[in-house]
Amino acid sequence: MNQLKDALSLVLTEIGNACAQANRSENSVQLLAVSKTHPSEMLREMYQAGQQRFGENYLQEALNKIEELQDLDIEWHFIGHVQRNKTKHLAEKFDWVHGVDRFIIAERLSNQRLPDQTPINLCLQVNIDQQDTKDGCEPSEVATLVSEISQLENVKLRGIMVIPAPNNTAAFADAKNLFDQVKSSHAHPEDWDTLSMGMSGDMQAAISAGSTMVRIGTALFGSRDYSQK
Ligand SMILES: *Cc1c(COP(=O)(O)O)cnc(C)c1O
Repeated sequence: MNQLKDALSLVLTEIGNACAQANRSENSVQLLAVSKTHPSEMLREMYQAGQQRFGENYLQEALNKIEELQDLDIEWHFIGHVQRNKTKHLAEKFDWVHGVDRFIIAERLSNQRLPDQTPINLCLQVNIDQQDTKDGCEPSEVATLVSEISQLENVKLRGIMVIPAPNNTAAFADAKNLFDQVKSSHAHPEDWDTLSMGMSGDMQAAISAGSTMVRIGTALFGSRDYSQK
C-alpha cells in the first residue's frame, strides 16, 4: 500500500512542479494511471490512495479488471489500438477511448453506446511525427475527422492523443499547435479540451508543451512483466 501511495504522491508532486515551471495551474493537467499488465489488486490500492482515472491497453485484460473492480467508481480509459470488431465492448464498458483514428471507429462507438449511457469521450490519435506505423491519422486529416465525428450522436470528441517516438519531445509542440488550430475553428471550443500526451519518461516536456493529460504507467506501478501475456 505504502509503496503505491508514495509513487502516486511523487508523480503528483512532479506534475505540480512541471506546471509551476511552465506557469500553468496545477489542476490543468490530469493524471491517467496506466495499469496494463498489473493485477486488479494493485489498481484497487492505487484507487484507495486517491487515483480514480485508469488506462488500459488490452481489451480482454481490461474487461476482467472492470468486472473485478465494479464496486469502485473508476473512470476507465482505453488507450490501446482499436480494432474495428472490438468496438462494442469499448462502447459499453469504457468512459474514454484515446485511440480513434478513423471515422468508422467513432461511428461504431456512437452506434453501440447504450441508450442509458452518457456520450463516450474520444480522442483522435494523431501520428504527429510521421512514424512508420499504422496507428494514428495524419495531421492533415484531423480537421475533416473533427467535423465528421462531431456530427455523431453518442460521442464527445475531446481532443488529440499522441505517442511521439522516444526523445522526440519537439513533437509535443507540433501536437499543441495542431490542438490550438482545431480549437480556434471549433464550433464548441469548450468541448475541445484534452491534449493527451506524456508518459513516465517525458512527462515534464509534455507538460511544458501544453499537455492536459499525462498517461503514466512505470512511474506509478513499476516496470511491467509481459511474460504472462
Ligand atoms: C503503456 C503506455 C503508457 C505508459 O507508459 P509508461 O512509460 O510506463 O509511463 C502511456 N501511453 C500509452 C499509449 C501506453 O501504451
